[in-house]
Amino acid sequence: MLGGGDGADHLLADVALPVVKDLVNKVRERAVGQEVIRSVSPAQQVIKIVNDCLVEALGGGEGVQHVPGLDLNAPAPIAILMIGLQGSGKTTTSGKIALRLRGRDKKKVLLASLDVHRPAAQLQLETLAKQAGVTSLPIIAGQTPLQIAARAMQVARGELYDVVILDTAGRLSIDEALMAEVAEVKAATKPHESLLVVDAMTGQDAVNTARIFNERVGLTGIVMTRVDGDARGGAALSMRAVTGAPIKLLGAGEKLDALEDFHPDRIAGRILGMGDIVSLVERAAETIDKAEAEKLAAKMQKGQFDLEDYAAQLKQIGKMGSLSGILGMLPGIGKIKSQIEDANLDNTVLKRQAAIIGSMTPKERRNPEILKASRKKRIAAGSGSTVQDVNRLLKQFDDMSAMMKRMNKLGQKGLMRGGLG
Ligand code: GDP
Ligand code: MG
Repeated sequence: MLGGGDGADHLLADVALPVVKDLVNKVRERAVGQEVIRSVSPAQQVIKIVNDCLVEALGGGEGVQHVPGLDLNAPAPIAILMIGLQGSGKTTTSGKIALRLRGRDKKKVLLASLDVHRPAAQLQLETLAKQAGVTSLPIIAGQTPLQIAARAMQVARGELYDVVILDTAGRLSIDEALMAEVAEVKAATKPHESLLVVDAMTGQDAVNTARIFNERVGLTGIVMTRVDGDARGGAALSMRAVTGAPIKLLGAGEKLDALEDFHPDRIAGRILGMGDIVSLVERAAETIDKAEAEKLAAKMQKGQFDLEDYAAQLKQIGKMGSLSGILGMLPGIGKIKSQIEDANLDNTVLKRQAAIIGSMTPKERRNPEILKASRKKRIAAGSGSTVQDVNRLLKQFDDMSAMMKRMNKLGQKGLMRGGLG
């Protein structure tokens, strides 16, 4: 299942963040322009919008013809080129596709391993071919990948195969020799499908891999493997956005029948089905109040910013902070999320600070400088916090005021816009 979890987050914020921003902006735009439909709650309405945006970002949606699975609409023999890093699941997926094409689509399939780098690789594919009930190209020692590919196409034409699956070698990381080899084979065999096989568990790395392979070799589709593990649906989102290539198939296990078509709506449903996302979406329904933000920015500029405004701003940040839920789903964003949390923007801190300000009199909020020991004690007692908490809040407010003054001098363009990074 594509599930949640706070797994390893080494993402490439530079790739995934724009994806998130796009998504959040799109949702916000639509949510704001949306007429209120009486029969559904605002939260339900927003969930629907988020769902639609997710489906679109994953390559589906109304008016879009998403054809699940492989495109076999070409004269035989059709070559399918399997590309990807070592261990991503290319060989296994080759066997899975062979089994499906033979069984469901009644195709005559030839499997050929071009992996001359690992000694057992060709034998592995031969074993899988037997399990799938299809033929594998006889192994001839000493041939180059290009020679094997040419031989496979020749055999396929001569013996009237419908489909030839070319399983290439991978490396542990992307390198020039690998790229050149794959590009050469592609030029020689003109595959109808060039499928990048990526491990859904590798997150950010997978997104990087996809982008580079697409630039260098050109992809017609992506296969995401190991979705049976604790992978996040977010990888699919980023991958699609970065390459523009559709995700065609999912590998959901080690067995040869563990191959699924990719359906954008189902993955969106799984992503949305995660509890934290639903609650996030409910909170996103209260989108950041733009008028409020502008009023605040104007006050800052005039240097009239007081604790009242600070409380209003905390509330806005609290809403933004709730978006960290959706950020957390995407590979590479975990770090930013923890930065937001480190910056004391998490909800408990925000709530405590709001409570402290709530315990002040309006006069105190407008003139924080009158807050001396006895008033602080009263405020701490009233808000269930300590004098230290009150001091910390005042310090933060002072810091912020000072920062604003500095920004004013620089001719600030609007602090509020910096929110999501
Ligand atoms: P290759 O180096 O890209 O050819 O990768 P392999 O096909 O040899 O797969 C590497 C390992 O990943 C093998 O142990 C496979 O059984 C396993 N594997 C491949 N696809 C999946 C999948 O969808 N789910 C799981 N759980 N394991 C997979
Ligand atoms: Mg292999």
